[in-house]
Amino acid sequence: MTPRVVVLAAPSGGGKTTIARELLRRRPGVFGYSVSATTRRPRAGERDGEAYHFLTRDEFARRVAAGEFLEWAEYAGESYGTLRSEVERVLASGRHVVLDIEVKGARQVRAAYPRPTSVSIFIIPPSPDVLLERLRLRRTESGRELQERLAIAVREVEAAAEDVKHAIVFDHIVVNDMLDAAVKRVIEIVDEPEAVQHRASDTWGLLADFARNLEQHAQQLGQPARGST
Ligand code: ADP
Ligand code: 5GP
Repeated sequence: MTPRVVVLAAPSGGGKTTIARELLRRRPGVFGYSVSATTRRPRAGERDGEAYHFLTRDEFARRVAAGEFLEWAEYAGESYGTLRSEVERVLASGRHVVLDIEVKGARQVRAAYPRPTSVSIFIIPPSPDVLLERLRLRRTESGRELQERLAIAVREVEAAAEDVKHAIVFDHIVVNDMLDAAVKRVIEIVDEPEAVQHRASDTWGLLADFARNLEQHAQQLGQPARGST
């Protein structure tokens, strides 16, 4: 087995964290996780060194300057980055390294690890309605934060649609409807990225529709309810 860099990107609520967790639970000897660094505050239940390495802004900047990041990006006013040491640690153990990152970071990873060493998968829920429902049920963001994440999600899905047209970063799109099927699909893609049919380039229309519909939903959410003062 050749260890690969497996990039999972998705709009917020798309399911990349859940799918990454399942990959590691089902195949611990095959997949390892790159624990990212971030300046955002931990959510309830998130432990330092497990979910993320939680850093101060100064410490994050120091590590950027020291060249410790393979990639890093700003998301919703916070910094997030993949540490080279995390990726190298997992690859050296002979396992695929799973990166749960946003779209700008996915581009930087593709530049550092071309195909077939890296495989990049964009995950979307079956519809914007389902995405919103899952985000609501997750209850990790305030109304305002949710609005911001939805606006970013629209831009990320638009960027992914443009990207797959030109086959630059995302090699495959996985629709995360039933979790088990989505996880199996990701495993199938990582096992043999070239053999899996349904290339991402066929799916740009699906992504473009998704982005348009999600934008409408996001705008409706942002409008005050009729009759309210
Ligand atoms: P992301 O990391 O992309 O923001 P999460 O993995 O946190 O997304 O998923 C968002 C929410 O949706 C979580 O509460 C998660 O439990 C739920 N979820 C993820 N995948 C599925 C699925 N296939 N079916 C139902 N709920 C899901
Ligand atoms: P969250 O705050 O929901 O954990 O993550 C916000 C966004 O940052 C998600 O899209 C997540 O994938 C992304 N992210 C997490 N870690 C990294 C990282 O190391 N680099 C980049 N570029 N994005 C990351």
